[in-house]
Amino acid sequence: MNKKNVLTVKNLNKVYSKKGSKQIHALNNLNLEVKEGEIFGLLGPNGAGKSTFINILGGSVIKTEGEVNVWGFNLDKNPRQVRASIGIVPQEVNFDPFFSPRKLLELQAGLYGIREKDRITDTILKLVSLEAQSDSYARALSGGMKRRLLVAKAMVHQPPIIILDEPTAGVDVELRNTLWENVKSLNKQGVTTILTTHYLEEAEKMCDRIGILSGGKLVALDTTENLLERIQTKIVYVTTDKKTNINDNTFESLKVISNDEKKLILSYEKSKLNIDKIITEIKNQNIKIQDISTDDGDLEDVFLRLTKNQVI
Ligand code: ADP
Ligand code: MG
Repeated sequence: MNKKNVLTVKNLNKVYSKKGSKQIHALNNLNLEVKEGEIFGLLGPNGAGKSTFINILGGSVIKTEGEVNVWGFNLDKNPRQVRASIGIVPQEVNFDPFFSPRKLLELQAGLYGIREKDRITDTILKLVSLEAQSDSYARALSGGMKRRLLVAKAMVHQPPIIILDEPTAGVDVELRNTLWENVKSLNKQGVTTILTTHYLEEAEKMCDRIGILSGGKLVALDTTENLLERIQTKIVYVTTDKKTNINDNTFESLKVISNDEKKLILSYEKSKLNIDKIITEIKNQNIKIQDISTDDGDLEDVFLRLTKNQVI
């Protein structure tokens, strides 16, 4: 599938500088593309720069450097068209608690200049399962319902792209699932979806592709499938009394990472090979194993390693 890019980011930099405090390089040469119709996840720990990135797209943070194109519009040249193309669900609840969901959506539609006859308030309320609450005070809604109302608010002008900034932080499991169902159903209707999260599991479940952001830098970018494949790989470190005769062809999926005099490092796919076979092979060569350890790459691991070992 060769889908067109609906968001392109080139060498995006953001430096926050306030008088009297030191500069913070929140985004550091960020490059990425989001394809039409996909669910793209930006995963990263607190302070990675996720909200900064989203707020640049939304216009509430001004970039320091770089180029951003959304739905074919350049952020510098056509900021209004960029804003019309995206619906942003912010990290913080930002509506007046004394309005009803219906009223809030109507007000938002007014802000976007949508004529009354063109409004789809009821459809949106239904979409986020808030029909029953449509005329209650927003402040009476549960945390999860408030989040869903934020999603509804972002959809009022029917943008082709929806961007959610940590939409499930602080939302309980059940409501989180409802929210994800809402997001998935929007996506099925063709809305390209970008979300940020610091929950790995969430990114895994929801996203077609994942970018891992750390210290304002993109440290990994791949399909969820490929990232998960890295997890299926095991690394073995063996200390022996002499050099082992082993190569990539000895077993299916085996890769010899290094084979020094007494130190052997291998990787293999868990689904295709078992460590017993490797041990037996070494023993059959009359080699003594003095020490052996394995490293089980789970995505959390990959994530931590990527986000810790990197030099900023
Ligand atoms: P995330 O959303 O991934 O947690 P943020 O984009 O909020 O990360 O923050 C990235 C970095 O920029 C952090 O070091 C944060 O302290 C800093 N930062 C965010 N907003 C501001 C601001 N308005 N002024 C100064 N520094 C900021
Ligand atoms: Mg944030």
